[in-house]
Amino acid sequence: MRQRNKPWADDFLKDNDQLVIPNAMDHKGKWQSVFKNDYPIHVEIGTGKGQFLAGMAKQHPDINFIGIEVAKSIIVSAAEKVMDSEVENLLLLNEDAADLREMFAENEIETIYLNFSDPWPKSRHEKRRLTYHTFLEQYKEVLDTKGKVIFKTDNRGLFEYSLVSFNEFGMKLEEVSLDLHAMDDPLNVMTEYEEKFAAKGQVIYRSRASF
Ligand code: SAM
Repeated sequence: MRQRNKPWADDFLKDNDQLVIPNAMDHKGKWQSVFKNDYPIHVEIGTGKGQFLAGMAKQHPDINFIGIEVAKSIIVSAAEKVMDSEVENLLLLNEDAADLREMFAENEIETIYLNFSDPWPKSRHEKRRLTYHTFLEQYKEVLDTKGKVIFKTDNRGLFEYSLVSFNEFGMKLEEVSLDLHAMDDPLNVMTEYEEKFAAKGQVIYRSRASF
């Protein structure tokens, strides 16, 4: 995702610390109290500019959404999008999601979304793919017993790799779509990347898997 240098980003994040929550680790195991309700928690890793979660938060007011985005200049755009959409059930974390267990307790999350994650096509970078088994291990810990991983991508190689990885980890595939947009799912909320790739005529893949 294209990043523009935003020298004012630090000040922006300080001024908006009710939305982009600093020190995420301090809230481990207590996220529902941050939202001040007991709705389930859904987390997106690599939120980008926030279009997906802003749409999801509007569509599902009884779910608490948390978006994690490592790039400061990008999370600023996500925060602006959240403010424009006036949703209250969505928080952002400017963190590296290298280990979700640092930020979430066991069973704290109901659903994890991976949308158009970086594909890391070289085999020497396999460990960086967000569907590599070490990530699945941590997702399993922080997800509740019915927890799901919902994954969308335009990248066929990463999709094939991920299905095998889910299977080798013993996960149950509940849905696999090889052409999501042909299904015309009225509840599908498009991400920025999804819109861009779909406009070019590329097929979008989606899977839903549980442990
Ligand atoms: N999900 C968005 C979409 O579909 O439009 C953005 C996709 S973009 C290819 C991947 C995003 O994930 C980038 O914004 C990148 O900064 C973020 N990202 C990559 N690794 C991450 C990590 N370990 N923790 C948090 N964000 C990460």
